[in-house]
Amino acid sequence: MAYVITAPEQAVVAVAGSGDHFPVGRIYCVGRNYAEHAREMGHDPDREPPFFFQKHAGALLAAAEPAGGDFPYPSMTSDVHHEIELVVAMKLGGTDIKAADALGHVWGYAVGIDMTRRDVQGEAKKLGRPWDGGKSFDNAAPVSLLHPASEVGHPAAGAIWLDVNGTRRQEGDLNQLIWSVPEIIEHLSALFGLQAGDLIMTGTPAGVAAVGPGDELTGGVEGLAGIMVRVV
Ligand code: MN
Repeated sequence: MAYVITAPEQAVVAVAGSGDHFPVGRIYCVGRNYAEHAREMGHDPDREPPFFFQKHAGALLAAAEPAGGDFPYPSMTSDVHHEIELVVAMKLGGTDIKAADALGHVWGYAVGIDMTRRDVQGEAKKLGRPWDGGKSFDNAAPVSLLHPASEVGHPAAGAIWLDVNGTRRQEGDLNQLIWSVPEIIEHLSALFGLQAGDLIMTGTPAGVAAVGPGDELTGGVEGLAGIMVRVV
């Protein structure tokens, strides 16, 4: 195939313990999936249906440095928040995938930070506009090394945390997810035809807060490689 311009680079996440890479298609994100975080954002978490938004694959901060790297403070904001999240990587696509079959579609797991221009997102919410400016900007999706489920299994419980400059800011457990990974895949695949290469960011526990240049974010999920991001 001859392209009329240079083709965009394939977005990838590096696989832990090997030189291999996972090619990334779309990045889906779940909103408000831990009750305490829903409350801190002013919402009632009682099993409202899950809702989704996207970050473009070019927003990945994984390509340059597997464990995260430098996050340039973005333009047009003065309130950038961290959201530590479990990331699911799909090896098989499909529509209307049932929760009972969902884990067979998962290749592996990583840790990500859903970096958010909270002020831009807040304005969009107020005006009933899309969230893209708040969520889908360049470098807004730092992702750690990816672990195959064949090695780490399918974590349904375990600590998830984020520290800023060594102080604990976010703390939770995967067993507090309002919608579990299989349930997320069932709902998401009813809305979209999922594809191999898709990533799903599964929502963040309470404690989201602003960061600024010079801050060092370190986070993790029990059993997976950690993530480290410097705000520059
Ligand atoms: Mn999030």
